[in-house]
Amino acid sequence: MKTFYTIRETIQYLSSYKEQSIGFVPTMGFLHEGHLSLVKEARKENDLVVMSVFINPLQFGPNEDYEQYPRNEVEDEKQAKAAGVDVLFIPSAKEMYPTKQKLSLTFTEGADVLCGFSRPTHFSGVAVVLSKLFHIINPDKAYFGLKDAQQFALVHTLIEQLHFQLDLVGLPTIRETDGLAKSSRNVYLNDAERKEAPLLHQFLNEGRKFISEGMKDAREIEAKVRSLLSSQMPQAEVEYVTILNYPTLEETTQIKERIILAAAIKYRQARLIDNVLILPNGKKQDKITLVNKIKI
Ligand code: AMP
Repeated sequence: MKTFYTIRETIQYLSSYKEQSIGFVPTMGFLHEGHLSLVKEARKENDLVVMSVFINPLQFGPNEDYEQYPRNEVEDEKQAKAAGVDVLFIPSAKEMYPTKQKLSLTFTEGADVLCGFSRPTHFSGVAVVLSKLFHIINPDKAYFGLKDAQQFALVHTLIEQLHFQLDLVGLPTIRETDGLAKSSRNVYLNDAERKEAPLLHQFLNEGRKFISEGMKDAREIEAKVRSLLSSQMPQAEVEYVTILNYPTLEETTQIKERIILAAAIKYRQARLIDNVLILPNGKKQDKITLVNKIKI
């Protein structure tokens, strides 16, 4: 595995692989099995696997955890290598933002709901950094976790509307044995919170069961799940429980198409998100491939 810290070295190295297919896994590091599952899929489908580790300052709000975000470059490098990454790109903030950022990318739909409501600049920051990374790496396919399903939907909008020549693969959420979605931020949980946290996944699944039993009223299902979360997770503050069509992220009152049932809860130091993608028959969907690259 090659590790590069600069854009120049990365572009130079990748220029000799123009004929090969490149699978790209962007991350913020502090790698866990969730990240590594993306590498595994990328490894299967491409000649070369590139991973980036970059904690993007632009996607953190002023009172968010940019400074505290967990970091462990040495361990990340070991894990990436063991998982079969060919090229690890670890730029500094100065490398990615050498001059003051004078350009922004704003979503006019889909970024003011779910996490975008409380994190109004987050997805603009994601769009800018991914545009930079896509230009540097020039991948054929990029791999994302559906744990961050709103991000996946908005990255689809980004690549489709700006004609980035790549396909997107969205992969299932990898969980601890008790159901808690793996996340670099789980280290912020204290013991009591960690014990309670798996209920988030459990109650989203309850919501899915309501749909499979024939319930169609989105507001009613949201209210039932919200009530389970508030009553059974006393340490958490419920930020949202929302059903939207997916991947359009448009509002729906009656469930007729594929939807996302998503929730965010806040603990003392950690904010946890989770979701389930549900087909109208109540079945779960956990992998999505969005083809966007023009094949010639
Ligand atoms: P992050 O480092 O948190 O920015 O995540 C990098 C990528 O890994 C994103 O595409 C995430 O959706 C994905 N990811 C994070 N946690 C998980 C998980 N538990 N299962 C699957 N993918 C994940």
